[in-house]
This record gives sequence, structure tokens and C-alpha cells, in this order.
Amino acid sequence: VERAARSKIKALDGGAVHKISSGQVVIDLQTAVKELVENSLDAGATSLEVRFKDHGVASFEVIDNGSGIAPEDYDAIALKHHTSKLSSFADLTSVSTFGFRGEALSSLCALSEHVIVTTCTAAEAPMGTILEFDSTGRLVGHKGKVARQRGTTVTVSGLFKPLPVRRRELERNAKREFGKALALLSAYALVPCAHENRGVRLTVTHQAAGGKKSVQMRTDGSPSTRASISALWGPKALENLVELDIVFPVEAERAVLRRRGIVDGDTHSNEVRVRGQISKFAVGCGRSGTDRQFFFVNGRPYNPSKVQKAFNEVYRTFNANQAPFIVADFILPTDSLDVNVSPDKRTILLHSEKNLIEALKVCRPVSLVIIASLAYASAGR
Ligand code: ADP
Ligand code: MG
Repeated sequence: VERAARSKIKALDGGAVHKISSGQVVIDLQTAVKELVENSLDAGATSLEVRFKDHGVASFEVIDNGSGIAPEDYDAIALKHHTSKLSSFADLTSVSTFGFRGEALSSLCALSEHVIVTTCTAAEAPMGTILEFDSTGRLVGHKGKVARQRGTTVTVSGLFKPLPVRRRELERNAKREFGKALALLSAYALVPCAHENRGVRLTVTHQAAGGKKSVQMRTDGSPSTRASISALWGPKALENLVELDIVFPVEAERAVLRRRGIVDGDTHSNEVRVRGQISKFAVGCGRSGTDRQFFFVNGRPYNPSKVQKAFNEVYRTFNANQAPFIVADFILPTDSLDVNVSPDKRTILLHSEKNLIEALKVCRPVSLVIIASLAYASAGR
């Protein structure tokens, strides 16, 4: 006992631990907004409105028409590691929801001035309940009832107020941070819940301090990527785009899965399918063009720097000066990837990323022929 008391090594108190780990889940405005949007999509929403006040520095909120939160769940939703989506570690290999760690709401509570949730299930419509949480995620009040249809609204104000350095950064770079959040929202607009083929109507608005509300983007809820591109960048953007749909054989992928007894060898899991849209070679979208490149794995936005490079290299053999406008969703078995690599889930570990890149290179002639024939066929249309 004496020795332990003399030790310099002490456990951090719970509050400090919470703040530290929350700061890794919600690293910036973009990831904060992303967590809310993903919760809405997980709740089956088909319509989403994202509202920013003062570039999100004052507040942001996501309003959805999803399942709503049942009264018996009010107490637990913002508690650390409380989730309705995953109950055992084994589930992690088959997770198809965006969320699974139960950290987003609790982190937002720890890292902002105020989190308010207004929610309503089908059973309670047309009356919703307003819930308020403290910084540890404990429910501190039912502020009463409001008229609303089924769904949930989460309002976060004063993001990063408890972390002064990060708050200052946010205030100083408000426009840039806001831009990054908009870019991420366009990714969700392009391939919303691709695996379910469910379109989501998305509206994003901004209101400057003392200013008017303006619409930043609006999609009409069509599940088609082309329709969303048209909604985001205008119908003219479609003229130069062709459908991307390639299947790459990934041999090692199958070997891994077979070793783990997940497939018997005859399934499609030895393939990686890439679906999306790509600009014709003659057009592209500028030299670097990375602001018009969107990659997904099974409908989950993803930062694939190596895969992106491989794509750009293939493209460059046709158009030396430009990078493609590209929306590409890699469709692979959920057990061949690990989305739990980084706290913000933007890094996805593919068991076979190397193989995927190899496949892209090995199949380059094949993929080029496919892309080329598509590009030229529709050029004549
Ligand atoms: P996770 O998404 O990993 O489960 P979160 O902290 O993001 O963790 O959310 C905690 C829980 O709160 C979710 O599991 C879900 O049950 C509920 N929830 C959060 N947002 C919504 C929403 N928009 N609609 C319905 N339920 C929600
Ligand atoms: Mg979540």
C-alpha cells in the first residue's frame, strides 16, 4: 500500500479520460457533423436537414425523419460506449451500420457547450420530447414536449468550448472547416446507404450571424449517384461523366476468407466491385482535382490515398494533364475490412488493400478498355 501511494503513476480521473478520448473521436467540425449524419442514416432516415449557424462555430444541427429514440433509451444514448448497434465484439466483423462504438453523442457532450436532442418515435407522433445532457452525457432534463413528426433533431452549440485551443482554431479557420464539412456532406449525398439502395433527401443550410438563411446544397432523395451529382453541381456536370462498373478479381481476398472459414470458394467474395461515375478522358477536373474525388467502401466514405493514386495513374495514361472527377464505391464483403482503425473511422483497413492496388494495376489493361469503351461510346451519344 505504501509503495503504491509513493508511485508517480496515477490513474487519470474519469473526466480527464473522457475529454481526452472524446477529442480523438470528434477531431473537427467535419467529424462532428459526420457523426450526426451517420446516426440519422443508421436510424433509417430518408430525409435529412443539416443547419449551420455562423459556419458551425455557433451551432449546427441535424434534423432527420428516422426511427426516433424510444423513451426507455433516453438515459443511455449519450453515455460512453452505449450503443444500440453492436452488442459483442464478434459483431464487428459484420457491422453494416455507420456507428457501433457508442462514442459520438457522449463525445459531443464532452466537447461542446450544449447538446440538445429532440426526438419522436412513431408511437409518440406528433409529440416530440426535448432532452438535455450534461458534459458527461447524463440526461439532465426533459425540457418538455414539442409538436413534431417521427424523427430526431440533434443540436450542438459551442463546439470545442471546453478545449480552448481547438476552439480558437475553429473560430480562426471557420470558413475552411465549414468547407470541409460541406465536402463530406456531398460525399454522403452521392452514395447514401448504397448497400440498401436507399436515397436520402439532403438539405444543407447556412445562416451567418445576423444574416439570412441560405441553402448550400439540396438533393431530391433519388438513390442514383447521377441524380445527386446533378443536384450538387448542376446537370451540365453529367455530360462528361460515364458509368464506372468494374469487377476486379482479388485472389488473396478469397484465400484470406477461406482460411477464416467464411467462404467456401464459390462465392463472389473473390471480387471487388467498383461502382460509380468517372469523367471522360478528354475532360477531367483539373490537375489535382482531388476536391471532386469521392471514394467509398461499401457506401462508407473513405480516404484511400493509395487507391486514389492508383486510379489517378491509370487515368493519366489517357489524359496527361488532368485528374478524373470520380465517385467510386468499392463493394466488398464486410468481413474483409476493418473500419475500427482510427477514431474518426475515415481510415478503413482493407485486409487486402495491397492486393486491391495490385489488382487495379494488373487489370489496368482490362479496366482501361472498359472505361475507354464506355467513354467513347457515350461520347458519340
Ligand atoms: P453509435 O452510433 O456508435 O451507436 P452514438 O453515440 O452515435 O453511438 O449514438 C448512441 C445511440 O443513440 C445510438 O446507438 C442510437 O440508438 C441513438 N441515436 C443517436 N442518434 C440518433 C438518431 N438520429 N436517431 C435515432 N437514434 C439515434
Ligand atoms: Mg453514431
